Amino acid sequence: MTKCPICSSPLSNDYYQKDTFWISCLRCGNCFITRSVRNMLEGGAFNLSETQIVNISGWIRENQGTDIDLTKEKLYSLKTLKTLTVSEKADKILIYFSKLFPVAGASLILGFNKVGEILNTINHQSFPENKDDPFMKMFNYNAPILLPIISLGRIINTDEFIYIIEVYLRKEKGYLSNSPQKITPAGWTYLESLRQANPESKKAFVAMWFDPEMEKVYDNFINKAIENSGFEPIQIGRKEHNNDINDEIIGEIRNCKFVVADFTGNRRGVYYEAGFAYGQNIEVIHSCHEDQLKDVHFDINHRNIIKWSDGEDLYNKLLKRIKATIA
Ligand SMILES: [Zn+2]
Repeated sequence: MTKCPICSSPLSNDYYQKDTFWISCLRCGNCFITRSVRNMLEGGAFNLSETQIVNISGWIRENQGTDIDLTKEKLYSLKTLKTLTVSEKADKILIYFSKLFPVAGASLILGFNKVGEILNTINHQSFPENKDDPFMKMFNYNAPILLPIISLGRIINTDEFIYIIEVYLRKEKGYLSNSPQKITPAGWTYLESLRQANPESKKAFVAMWFDPEMEKVYDNFINKAIENSGFEPIQIGRKEHNNDINDEIIGEIRNCKFVVADFTGNRRGVYYEAGFAYGQNIEVIHSCHEDQLKDVHFDINHRNIIKWSDGEDLYNKLLKRIKATIA
């Protein structure tokens, strides 16, 4: 059984073409990785700690649906992802439950009592050879459901998993009930408070550098990608602002469904606008010209930034990203 170079869970797919692997991990999900980076990972060259492994796995899982390219630079950047707090981990798990079982009153049938056995086997790589082994039957049935939860919650071990489900979400917060296990009314109310802002809005705010070359990119490509995915692009005034964002911009961002933030030119205003959107629970799609990616600020570097070479390339990637994550 081949294992994931990041988290060591079994791979369900491992496909190789032109020096790049497309791997599909039961825990992390799908991503592209070059042979040399995979060799580096397997040789321990990145020296990933237990926490870095769960952070990177969780990041890959969260960005499923978009193209993930694990380059050497990307991995060094992901190594510095911040560790989530207990409540942040619990939020991610609760949101995931509500997506798996969106109908209120549904019992969460997830085989939680198998987590220990599954994680232990992965950590010790002690898989039985025989596919008909009862453990493998249990593993093949439960791991595809449980491992994404472990990944999204950035769970280190069984104790942490049980703590977050039983002690935090059930006993302390009352968001889950026991036998049958369901999301409680308090849990649903809390989930509503976490919901993305403006689900019905058709507006997309564009934050970018108003340089003459970039305005051409906006007019011919960014604008069209947004329109062709069924949204209305909003771009304010085309004037620079360096310190804070004004009321008009705040109002527009508050009313939009998502923000496209292009970091080409590394303008401070773009960081402010993206930052304001994060605070409003508004989705932000990040992009940057490939030559300027190295200048992008550390915090943004952890997002799955669309790296583009020319307007046409940006158009195609942006359209694909909007359709995958917003529309
Ligand atoms: Zn993995």
